[in-house]
Amino acid sequence: MPKLAVLGHPVAHSRSPAMHAAAFQALGIANEWSYEAIDVTPDEFESRLRRLATAGYAGANVTVPHKLAALAVADNASPAARAIGATNMLTFTEGGIEADNTDAPGLLGALPGSPAGRRAVVLGAGGAARACVWALVQTGAEVRVWNRTKAGAEELAQALGAELHESGGEPLGADTYDLLVNATTVGLGVAAGTRTESTDPLSDLKPLPLGADSVSARHVVVDLVYGSSETPLSAFARQRGADVVDGLEVLVHQGAASFRLWTGLDPPTDVMRDAARKT
Ligand code: NAP
Repeated sequence: MPKLAVLGHPVAHSRSPAMHAAAFQALGIANEWSYEAIDVTPDEFESRLRRLATAGYAGANVTVPHKLAALAVADNASPAARAIGATNMLTFTEGGIEADNTDAPGLLGALPGSPAGRRAVVLGAGGAARACVWALVQTGAEVRVWNRTKAGAEELAQALGAELHESGGEPLGADTYDLLVNATTVGLGVAAGTRTESTDPLSDLKPLPLGADSVSARHVVVDLVYGSSETPLSAFARQRGADVVDGLEVLVHQGAASFRLWTGLDPPTDVMRDAARKT
């Protein structure tokens, strides 16, 4: 019976076990496949991963803080995982541990249309931002990157074929882009319920180069951040009439892409979405 897992620290809040269990049920393979959450500290990560690979597991998702370490442990990596510099999805094969990156197709799958030829702005320069920039550039979007620490945005933009977005302290101009992706952690406190949302969501977005007129009904806005409450960026963009894609939708498409690679089956994305949103 092939087993799967998500490795993280902490990981108890992960929606991936519920999402994959629902998919196994829907396809009638729940007595063949299983998916569990395993909390592993960074110190134990490599040894635990190697043990799973020889203990009947077919693969694993990896999440914070292990995405870079997992790539270093892998024997082979897909071009996407190598270019992005991080993996969130491993397959255990006879030839060793194979690393892939399904955060990138997760973003593309969640978008309402192809970003080819569109002007995208990605906020952030961490692992999630790298996956988004890579995916958008590969698809033929014109991508600009902004980050709180400018050096991070410069390095990312140069490595992945994007441009630097220099805000100069000015809010993003509504007519300078089509698609906005927040890949920073701004809004995480509100989404996780550890901070109270302000009545004006824009005040929670002060660290970002956004003003009241930065977003309109002609924009697609993706917020990778998710939690039990709506994020300030999703709330603001919705109020402005934008087409909003939330972080859970990206997570669901990432899960569906992982499911397809492990099982070779078409993922029941609607079922996975219902399970992720109910958790
Ligand atoms: P990361 O590697 O730690 O990067 C964090 C990013 O946020 C950096 O660019 C950092 O800027 C920026 N940042 C942190 N605090 C900030 C602040 N106060 N103001 C402005 N920028 C700030 O994290 P990650 O793995 O890329 O994840 C980023 C977010 O995406 C997280 O909320 C994560 O949960 C989410 N995510 C969602 C999905 C999904 O499927 N929906 C997948 C992956 C990640 P500096 O470089 O200046 O520190």
